[in-house]
Amino acid sequence: MTLVLDTTSTHLPFDIARIRRDFPILKREVAPGVPLVYLDNAATSQRPVQVIASITRYYRDHNANIHRGVHTLSVESTDMYEGERAKIAQFINAPDAREIIFTRNTTESINLVAHAWGRKFLQAGDEVVLSEIEHHSNIVPWQMLRDERGIVLRFIPMLPDGTLDLDEARRLIGPKTKLLSVTAMSNALGSIVPLTDLIAMAKAEGATVLVDGAQSVPHMAVDVQALGIDFLAFSGHKMLGPNGIGVLWGRLDLLDAMDPFMGGGDMILTVTLDRSTWADVPAKFEAGTPDISGAIGLGVAVDYLAALGMDAIRKHEIEITDYALRRLADVPGLSIFGRPNAQERGGVISFELEGIHPHDVGQVLDTHGVAIRTGHHCAQPVMAALNVPATARASFYLYNTTEEVDALVDALEQTNAFFGTGR
Ligand code: PMP
Repeated sequence: MTLVLDTTSTHLPFDIARIRRDFPILKREVAPGVPLVYLDNAATSQRPVQVIASITRYYRDHNANIHRGVHTLSVESTDMYEGERAKIAQFINAPDAREIIFTRNTTESINLVAHAWGRKFLQAGDEVVLSEIEHHSNIVPWQMLRDERGIVLRFIPMLPDGTLDLDEARRLIGPKTKLLSVTAMSNALGSIVPLTDLIAMAKAEGATVLVDGAQSVPHMAVDVQALGIDFLAFSGHKMLGPNGIGVLWGRLDLLDAMDPFMGGGDMILTVTLDRSTWADVPAKFEAGTPDISGAIGLGVAVDYLAALGMDAIRKHEIEITDYALRRLADVPGLSIFGRPNAQERGGVISFELEGIHPHDVGQVLDTHGVAIRTGHHCAQPVMAALNVPATARASFYLYNTTEEVDALVDALEQTNAFFGTGR
């Protein structure tokens, strides 16, 4: 049964049919007569033709190594690469393009901070506050630093509804807190973290703040100056950009004060056999030949997102998520983790189908063309807190439609039938 809601594609904030034409992969079938319904966007997004074409064009017409080149192609490549830095700075309202460091992904961006800021500014006994809903990439680097330096890790607990316990946060964040490092949105549950409250608590104690923006930068407007944070990490591949390109934004004074993360070409000013001196930011943190085509593709992805408008994208995801929450509630045996209200979560819905292992749910859905993710979502502490080994997760992006939500619901009903649950 399909609910009649005024959230059909034609009422969504932009022209979905037109957008979908930009994503050739969305026309594909996973088997003859079985069209793809791609609902695994929290893992990675699809790429529009504009991004794909920009990479081909770069290799076809401009390819050369960047910086210090005197020939035309090198100058063009350098200008393109550096131009994207400025565009990305504008996208997150960073005051200075030099504050954009190109990395491989969110994981590398967080590791960069742990190495280059953490090793310089944290001492034994200093406290780093994280949360229980972090992706492993915002837990493991800090555990490694703890084992090396004797820093203390504190975790803001998750409440049963997938939100963070702010009373406990108030207790944990104190004079010993040197860093608050939290995600803006849980990739496992979709919970939106109350950053404003947490940042205010951390700043009142003079702590530095890192935000893991892997799930927020692709899906909502993020303004680093309005947030009043110090570092922001995000990945190109979750926001229509290529794989292998990510960003660390950091406040210029902090980046200037940090030592390099990796040593090698491009990050130096001078090298003798005895010693080396460092280039200025951002080159100091970009040792070796970077992913030039990746940065260019990410710039085009940012153009695409900016043209649609991040507020419109967020509005679309709220509408799709709201529709999905309502429709999924009618699937027999299905329970949803996290907040019941679409306004309080991102476009991520984690659920379980009673009596059927999430991996089996995922596999049956795949036979219907519906791509979701199952497992611990690189957030094992969240699974532990929920007391489940894994969940099934559907996650939406700007090209998803209510019809695709219907396809998900139909496939889940078929899954119930397939396993003979009698529901
Ligand atoms: N943090 C969050 C919240 C994420 O969702 C992800 C990706 N699932 C990451 C960090 C890691 O991103 P990447 O694998 O691109 O480094």
